[in-house]
Amino acid sequence: MCDICMKHGAGGKWYLNARHYSEEIATRYNLREFLLEQYKNFEQIPVRKMAGVSPAGLGYKLQIPIIGRLIKTTAERLLHSNRPPKNPFRPDGHIGQVVPLEDAIAILEHCAAEPIIEKNCMCRYMSRGIKEACCINFGVMSEIIDRLPRFIPEKEKYQLSRREAIARFTEHNRKGYIGTIWFGPFPYINNLCSCATPECAGIRPRLDFGIHSIYKAEYVAVLDPERCRGCRDCIAACRFAALQPAPSDQGVGIEASRCFGCGLCRHVCPTEALSLVPRSEIPALRGSY
Ligand code: SF4
Ligand code: SF4
Ligand code: SF4
Repeated sequence: MCDICMKHGAGGKWYLNARHYSEEIATRYNLREFLLEQYKNFEQIPVRKMAGVSPAGLGYKLQIPIIGRLIKTTAERLLHSNRPPKNPFRPDGHIGQVVPLEDAIAILEHCAAEPIIEKNCMCRYMSRGIKEACCINFGVMSEIIDRLPRFIPEKEKYQLSRREAIARFTEHNRKGYIGTIWFGPFPYINNLCSCATPECAGIRPRLDFGIHSIYKAEYVAVLDPERCRGCRDCIAACRFAALQPAPSDQGVGIEASRCFGCGLCRHVCPTEALSLVPRSEIPALRGSY
């Protein structure tokens, strides 16, 4: 299990700890007011900056000795902050993890606080100007979105039952969107996202700059060579370049250290040659998130 599970999972995965979805936490941290302020100003405020540093030119800044290390450490400290949320204009305590379809379904079945909605994805909107409904929200987050019409999809159904939310998430996942779950902010979980790269502002700092803005899933993909018939359809389905053509034959190989455990490759495999195993079962990957 990752360090967030060790601290906040109550013996299991952090995102399956129902306490993090509770009204008690929402009230204690005054999250109705906090989130309304944050989302009312979403496009205008520097919430997407980390440690006050804009992503523009960040790669160059990170390469500068000492300064680069300082920016990275400060950004990670901010995102992983366990302090009670205070400033809605900063992304403190906004940390997430990749989740495969099965765990997302467990979240929606057993943990997500009602009401459940699906709002427009702000990462896609801010980077490409398109509104696509694929961010599933719970509890207080759903309540405040009710007051912010620009987040509400025009065509798709907005308020969802648990069954409908599972159906929508499954549809996105099978389409190739990466499942992610987020503290928003810590210790409240309110976003189950279906992300795209490079648009996702949570995944991008990790892939581009190695900043731990999101953790890999609790799983990693494994290949059954007996079942693989070498079509290589899975290579294009992997958003993390973890699947590569095998040099010796027509099959594929998995670079396990690159695998985020999203499980998307499984959806395209015609022979069920790909599956997920717990990350902890692979000695070289244990503790590597
Ligand atoms: S985290 Fe994912 S689904 Fe949520 S707003 Fe960003 S890209 Fe969209
Ligand atoms: S999609 Fe399945 S059968 Fe095709 S190369 Fe990948 S693992 Fe093998
Ligand atoms: S190999 Fe499969 S599980 Fe791993 S990152 Fe790629 S698509 Fe996701």
